[in-house]
Amino acid sequence: MINQDLNTKAKITWCPGCPNFQILVAFREAITELTSQNKIKIENIVATAGIGCHGKIVEYLNMNTFTSLHGRSIPTMTGIKTANPNLTVIGFSGDGDAYAEGMEHLIHAARRNSDIKLFVHNNQVFALTTGQATPTSPKGFKGKSTPFGSIDEPFDPILLMLSLNASFIARTFALDIPKTKEIMKRATEHKGFAFVDIIQPCITFFDTREYFKERIFWIDDSPANDPEIAMQKIKNNQNKIPCGIFYEISKPTFEAQQ
Ligand code: SF4
Repeated sequence: MINQDLNTKAKITWCPGCPNFQILVAFREAITELTSQNKIKIENIVATAGIGCHGKIVEYLNMNTFTSLHGRSIPTMTGIKTANPNLTVIGFSGDGDAYAEGMEHLIHAARRNSDIKLFVHNNQVFALTTGQATPTSPKGFKGKSTPFGSIDEPFDPILLMLSLNASFIARTFALDIPKTKEIMKRATEHKGFAFVDIIQPCITFFDTREYFKERIFWIDDSPANDPEIAMQKIKNNQNKIPCGIFYEISKPTFEAQQ
């Protein structure tokens, strides 16, 4: 049940059928449930975004929001959290925003264990600028900037987070709203840096819906607290793509140590 109070009057300008709609629904439902269970107060949440199709989401959320510069959703979040540690700071980003322009911020927020939550809309393409390769585009991807196919190997954000010992690491699939909602709730309640990579096919410039539907499977509900066991959960299994919460540990946050 969506809390109507979280809706805004802004006209939604995503392409009809874009999986960003499912992310928006999942997030509204997650926040509605957390607030109705008195686990969080709506006035204590701040949601930020960078630049990209994902960034429009904050226009459609009736809560405290901030739209930052390209790749700067994460430093905006750490600044807000440092200034007022009582706030729950949740950021949205895209694969171009977080893994290209904002990569350095991502690495340092994860290794510091800043108490912020990051949801990355990973569609493997710069969609707002109509189809250029990003760091997660597969090798051979043909787009406006790589008409003969990308020659770069894609990088794996989940493995990067594990190498940094990020304290909460998950992946979800935008088309599965219930699973995405649950992972968003768990991430929001996590104390420390929570990282969620959301596979979000761009139906206009890189339609991977069928590709992922055929390959995604869900791991069990108990995240590992040992990096080697987490690695086993993450490992690609016969060309399948695991989703779920891979790793969760408790350790001092950046803000608590200041
Ligand atoms: Fe969604 Fe792609 Fe359209 Fe952007 S361009 S709104 S990511 S379908």
